[in-house]
Amino acid sequence: MSVLLLTHPACLDHETGSWHPESPDRLRAVLKALDAPEFAALVREEAPLASDETLSLAHDAAYVKSVLAAIPATGAQALHLDPDTVVSPGSGEAARRAAGAVVAAVDAVMGGRFDRAFCAIRPPGHHAEPARPMGFCLFNNVAVGALHARTVHKVNRIAVVDFDVHHGNGTQAIFENDPDLFYGSIHQAPFYPGTGRISERGVAGNIMNIPFGAGSGGIMVRRAFIERLIPALDEFMPDLLLVSAGFDAHHRDPVGGMDLGTEDFAWMTKELIEVARRHCGGRIISTLEGGYDLRALADATASHVHVLMTAP
Ligand SMILES: [Zn+2]
Repeated sequence: MSVLLLTHPACLDHETGSWHPESPDRLRAVLKALDAPEFAALVREEAPLASDETLSLAHDAAYVKSVLAAIPATGAQALHLDPDTVVSPGSGEAARRAAGAVVAAVDAVMGGRFDRAFCAIRPPGHHAEPARPMGFCLFNNVAVGALHARTVHKVNRIAVVDFDVHHGNGTQAIFENDPDLFYGSIHQAPFYPGTGRISERGVAGNIMNIPFGAGSGGIMVRRAFIERLIPALDEFMPDLLLVSAGFDAHHRDPVGGMDLGTEDFAWMTKELIEVARRHCGGRIISTLEGGYDLRALADATASHVHVLMTAP
């Protein structure tokens, strides 16, 4: 299976400071893992810049302008937008490339060039709300891609599945009032950012939150996939499936407190590919979110991409 890999060196230039877990070394670790011989068949393309207009599909236009205006032109010191979210001179291009990667993946998949794509990008996106940066995120990459699919390619029903250890409050906020957008999340709770309760169901049951206590592992997550998330996706019947692929639910992760192993990420990937085959003509686009242990991040991302390349 031919899989498209979208990334850009500019995503390494979003400097966050030596103390920050969301470091350029994360993306370096992912790209190094994807340089192994078994990934030689990946088709590699550079992520384009997302325009203000495209970013404004998921965000208030004034917010897009204000975030980009807040990015310093020079200086080595990262500037705080909130206690967790920082910007540095390279952040504007990195953020535009990150969202641009998902947009280009949508164009490639909806144009029929590929069925599957992975976006190796940073900054991550799923905490970014319509008018607020949050949790290391400036723009909501996956939501920008989803709304681009709708606006440009006239895709009606779009689902995002998010297996990052944190709830994607931003994606939920962008999707919750639109019955043709589905957001399903597994995440640790109680935990940052505090949203993602089971009772948050969206305007038409189009939000599915599956919170897990600290220490929850693969058995519980797989059961939730089989009993709740997959049936909900089968009922929703998306035309396009996007994945917010965070790997911070890995047991090695220093930020998250869940107990997933690399094999659990591979298993979830296979299940989501099956959903895409049943409903989306096989179309599935995955994008990197969190994951803060470099070895676990590299291993789990490699396993995820390997399944995208090899699963029928
Ligand atoms: Zn996370």
